[in-house]
Amino acid sequence: MKLKFWGTRGSIPTPGEDTVRYGGNTPCVEVRLSNNDLIILDAGTGIRALGDQLMATGASVQAYIAISHPHWDHVQGFPFFKPAFISGNELTIIGPQSKHVTLRQMMAHVMDKVYFPIQLHELKANIKFIAMKEESTKVFDATLSSLFVNHSSMALGYRVDVAGHSLVYISDNEPFDREVAMSVKNVDPIVVRKFSESKAEPNQRVFDFAKGADVLIHDATYTPEEYVNHVGWGHSHYLFCLKIAHEAGVKKLVLFHHDQTHDDAAIDDILHKCKREIKTRNYRFECHAAAEGVEMEW
Ligand SMILES: [Zn+2]
Repeated sequence: MKLKFWGTRGSIPTPGEDTVRYGGNTPCVEVRLSNNDLIILDAGTGIRALGDQLMATGASVQAYIAISHPHWDHVQGFPFFKPAFISGNELTIIGPQSKHVTLRQMMAHVMDKVYFPIQLHELKANIKFIAMKEESTKVFDATLSSLFVNHSSMALGYRVDVAGHSLVYISDNEPFDREVAMSVKNVDPIVVRKFSESKAEPNQRVFDFAKGADVLIHDATYTPEEYVNHVGWGHSHYLFCLKIAHEAGVKKLVLFHHDQTHDDAAIDDILHKCKREIKTRNYRFECHAAAEGVEMEW
């Protein structure tokens, strides 16, 4: 399995000289299975450049695009994904839906004529939609599994398993706390119920989902100090990422969804603190900070 980061930033693009190393585009990860089959995780602004590279090969595109949830930073690149405009290309969009909005409507809204000149139904590629709850589905030779995470919409984390290799992608997720869930009612009750089912550690379901993964990409928006003022906003601090990676026994943790206020130096500092913490606690996994353009293979 191989991956390449095309967008690593949370919430809003952050172009500029202070963010060139880790990148300014919003979430998009290219995943390649061993025979080069393509799975794309999220359609943030990073998907534009991925689309341009796919177009440059001249080959037709057959890909799955797994959307974590419809917040802007995870879908706003889709209208600029050129392969969607080309007849003969086949795209299957996977994602959550709620009783208020179907997956197809969710993607159509991104291209509503109030906001964009071309509408979803005008795209020339053959586009299919698969709405997912918590389940597993076959994607090429791989199994794609999904988990509802603690975020303020029906947001999914994904796991890709193929031939003994695994990748877990949880772009937006907050440590679940029962008291916070009672007072801040912005997470769907279905999701709150799922986290509350565990009598002990409510985040155990996330640890279980990531169990033994080769690579875990996880929301590391805040420092622990910043998190105190953002409880209920749907994001994690890096110490929680370390806890998940340890509890799940993953091999490699990748800090992701960098906060818009964190420049390259700030992310260097977070990574440094994580590595120090890993050493102090005798944890056994590698830790990286996602950077645009970086590839990983395992
Ligand atoms: Zn996000």
